[in-house]
Amino acid sequence: MKESKNLTIGVPPKSAAGIKAVFISIQQITKRMSFYNTFKALKNLNQKKGTDCPGCAWPDPTHRSKLGEFCENGVKAIAEEAMDKRANSAFFSKYSLSELKKQSDYWLGQQGRLTNPMIIESGNSNYAPISWEKAYKIIGENLNNLSNPNKATFYTSGRTSNEAAFLYQLFVRMYGTNNLPDCSNMCHESSGAALYNTVGIGKGSVTLNDLYKAELILIFGQNPATNHPRMLVALEKAKKNGAKIVSINPLKEAGLVNFKNPQTAKGIIGKGTTISDLYLQLKINEDVALLKAVMYKLFKKAATSPSIIDSNFINNKTIDFESFKKEITSQNIEELITRTGLNESEIDAFVDLIVPRKKIIACWGMGLTQHVNGVDNIQEVVNLLLMKGSIGKEGAGTCPVRGHSNVQGDRTMGIAERPSKQLLEKISENFGFTPPKESGLSVVESIAAMHQEKVKVFIAMGGNFLSAAPDTNFTEQALEKCDLTVHISTKLNRSHLTHGKIGLILPSMGRTDKFIQNGKEEFVTVENSMGIVHSSQGKLTPPSSMVESEPLIVANIAKATLKQSKVDWDFLTNDFGNIRDLIDKTIAGFENYNERVKNPIGFELPNGARTGNFTTPTKKAKFTVNKVSQTKFDNNEFIMMTTRSHDQFNTTIYGLDDRYRGIYNGRMVVFMNEEDVANLNLQKGDLVSLYNNYSNTKREVSGFAVVPYNIPKGCLATYFPEANPLVPLELTAHISHTPSSKSVKVKIKKMEV
Ligand code: SF4
Repeated sequence: MKESKNLTIGVPPKSAAGIKAVFISIQQITKRMSFYNTFKALKNLNQKKGTDCPGCAWPDPTHRSKLGEFCENGVKAIAEEAMDKRANSAFFSKYSLSELKKQSDYWLGQQGRLTNPMIIESGNSNYAPISWEKAYKIIGENLNNLSNPNKATFYTSGRTSNEAAFLYQLFVRMYGTNNLPDCSNMCHESSGAALYNTVGIGKGSVTLNDLYKAELILIFGQNPATNHPRMLVALEKAKKNGAKIVSINPLKEAGLVNFKNPQTAKGIIGKGTTISDLYLQLKINEDVALLKAVMYKLFKKAATSPSIIDSNFINNKTIDFESFKKEITSQNIEELITRTGLNESEIDAFVDLIVPRKKIIACWGMGLTQHVNGVDNIQEVVNLLLMKGSIGKEGAGTCPVRGHSNVQGDRTMGIAERPSKQLLEKISENFGFTPPKESGLSVVESIAAMHQEKVKVFIAMGGNFLSAAPDTNFTEQALEKCDLTVHISTKLNRSHLTHGKIGLILPSMGRTDKFIQNGKEEFVTVENSMGIVHSSQGKLTPPSSMVESEPLIVANIAKATLKQSKVDWDFLTNDFGNIRDLIDKTIAGFENYNERVKNPIGFELPNGARTGNFTTPTKKAKFTVNKVSQTKFDNNEFIMMTTRSHDQFNTTIYGLDDRYRGIYNGRMVVFMNEEDVANLNLQKGDLVSLYNNYSNTKREVSGFAVVPYNIPKGCLATYFPEANPLVPLELTAHISHTPSSKSVKVKIKKMEV
């Protein structure tokens, strides 16, 4: 990659945010947007009745700061979506596909908002403009030409609003398939599976208020300063209220060490807030070993101090405690400790923090979910909470932190390849057709099916599928084998550069765009990471008169495809309130939707785990027995996790720096333990290739600069999506099928100069 030529490897800072974050935010947004649009967008960002940030899914507090209720990365997300620059028809006639393929993801994103529907056919060198009518006709004809609706797959990314997601799944099921993969297949699917099994709901149980009241907060496999920065404000408040925080993460992340809140004097000129009372730099994917060691020690202590464990809660609210206890107490503690790479004294310090506390919250990110044993990881976290009676009460519970603004809402709206019986029954009752019952394809299954030519049409509602998916080269081949690939997008991205026989790009409105129809400003609704549903209204003029709202695009695809439909698609899209009326009738918890969403802070969805009324078949929470990681390594093999830089949001690259890790002007780096660097006779900045050989297929990426770093021995970290070609499609979590992007075996070789 071009950018790596100027790579600078510096020293990571000891704290995150501060005044520097403010300067960088201003610099990023004013570079891309007019002063007027900047002011208008930021004034409304995350305010009541304002625009919901298109970045992460972190919830908004009840009282919003007038200084601005957003973080540096929220500003970057706005600058990215609402930039003044346009990737219009002239842009596509200037650059051929082969020229665009040579550019970096960062460059592609900086070319501006898409303004016209575009088409490319096999053999063409460039995308060309097409009318909306013709584009819809092509989609309808291709879908109707398939011998079976299961030969099409319909992807959704987290940005999609509740209204668009509901219509999309309705259309797809009327068309006849449950092939509704989504981005949560690649991130928190393991959380959903584990939580559904153990506490009866596949979502977290806590609210912001719980975080403020917690006595102990555990943060597993997560980097809030980059991926959900306003979480640090909540953690700061929790600490002020007396909470202790333990961070469990292979990398020492600046934001988990110290936070300088730029809205306080202490954050601007003072020392900031120490976030972690204890920081455990665990070896990658040894969370189950650590938790077993901790619970083993808790059982030992409970032999003399029984109140350490909440027997009342366990007896009344849980099942399978005895089998769980038997498994934990029969563990070999020395082996567990060795696996973690930690000293026993560190584990004892962790235990000492747990012993006197009952209000415990466990937060986690993809550091727990993206492993073959991702579901086990989360179930083991739940075991600890259940032992302590730390769920279903104030200040305690589960907090999987979702990465994309409405990813949780999309699933609630029925974007699911394995829909619940209850949803299918409601659809059947309300819409007069029998939806398909058989399971559809997840992301990984869709890629495999496209590669085997069992799926011939791929439609993506948002996202950057190719960069987000594992096994990039394989996924590219899979998309190329399709008859038709369609991307409903706001900006150009790498996925547009790999197409089927016909490729379409349909430009859609984003969160920041104002949408007026019939003299009325429309709004949409979203659900945040803590199950609060609220409205979001764009305030800026859309980039072109040709871009369409996502609900309208779905309705027009439906009209072009379905020969018979009892749904009046025009009626629904003429007023988004009509869509919400249908959601009200179909999805549990949305009763009186249009009225309740008028509340400026939104409304809370039902959550049994939050109230201690577990919605499992037995009505009790369930202890589980989980295995430590079973991955075996050769002597010269490392375990690699992919991670995001600070100038990045999922697949969107905002810039080339990762200043919290001391990296500037480049992304092609591999973070390594200093001893490992020395043992391989490598030096800082040396270029290496990383490779592996799963299922007899050699995968290799080259040109990664060595960065000696504070990471446990044997562990490596690289950026996503640059290292995605190393993640084999078949390496997925049991049950959830989440790609195991955070435990990939790799070897390293120095490149010849
Ligand atoms: S914390 Fe997340 S939702 Fe909030 S402003 Fe930052 S990126 Fe946006």
